[in-house]
Amino acid sequence: FLAVEDVSKWYGDEQVLHDVSFEMGAGDVTVLIGPSGSGKSTMLRCVNRLAEAQEGSIRLDGVDVLDPGTDVNELRREVGMVFQGFNLFAHLTAVGNVALGPRRVLGLSKSDAMERAREELERVGLGDQFDSYPAELSGGQQQRVGIARALAMGPKLMLFDEPTSALDPELIGEVLSVMHDLVDDGMTMLVVTHEMSFARAVADEIVFLDNGRVVERGPPEQLFERPEHDRTGRFLERIA
Ligand code: ATP
Ligand code: MG
Repeated sequence: FLAVEDVSKWYGDEQVLHDVSFEMGAGDVTVLIGPSGSGKSTMLRCVNRLAEAQEGSIRLDGVDVLDPGTDVNELRREVGMVFQGFNLFAHLTAVGNVALGPRRVLGLSKSDAMERAREELERVGLGDQFDSYPAELSGGQQQRVGIARALAMGPKLMLFDEPTSALDPELIGEVLSVMHDLVDDGMTMLVVTHEMSFARAVADEIVFLDNGRVVERGPPEQLFERPEHDRTGRFLERIA
């Protein structure tokens, strides 16, 4: 469903991804872990072409992502992304934020876009906050609006880049729980997170990146309990 093969990327002279390869089936959850600066965000951004991979290939559901002829706007409709910051429009309500993409990008009528927005907000447990502005919501609620906004586009793949890192500890659980529900719904998800108990619970595969290279990858039991490489073990000890 998603096949990343020998992807390399440079920023200027600095190579930040070295022949990165992994693949995911439809409905799979892959968690990318690794130290700061190891290239996790860059790898995610190459998948929806927010960053340009100079070498290698990325195929998503039969589409050659890196082909210059590939329609980037269509690609981004099919690949939802949730970032660390919530990036909501402060002057729009929760429903307004979620309805914007369906209205502007998918061309839904105002009432259809609002209806879809309400459905997605209910899905993330915000059925009682349709008309709240971002400033009236907690960080956890704002991040759930961010997830609803991505879901409202009907993506076939969801990318999460440290979606809970900016949250107060007591708000992390509600966001992870929404992500857990998405996993149960069969969403294909590529997730960067330091929440190892979440990773262990939901990941089909963990990919450990260090210095832009895949050091090792495998099912969580294997990676957490019998890492093949010292570097993996040391990293896991540090963040445990
Ligand atoms: P973190 O855990 O801190 O988020 P990361 O694993 O997501 O780190 P990246 O943000 O992908 O790492 O960065 C990988 C490397 O690429 C780093 O050396 C970083 O400085 C560099 N880098 C990232 N974005 C850019 C950019 N826009 N221009 C130049 N260099 C960049
Ligand atoms: Mg990052």
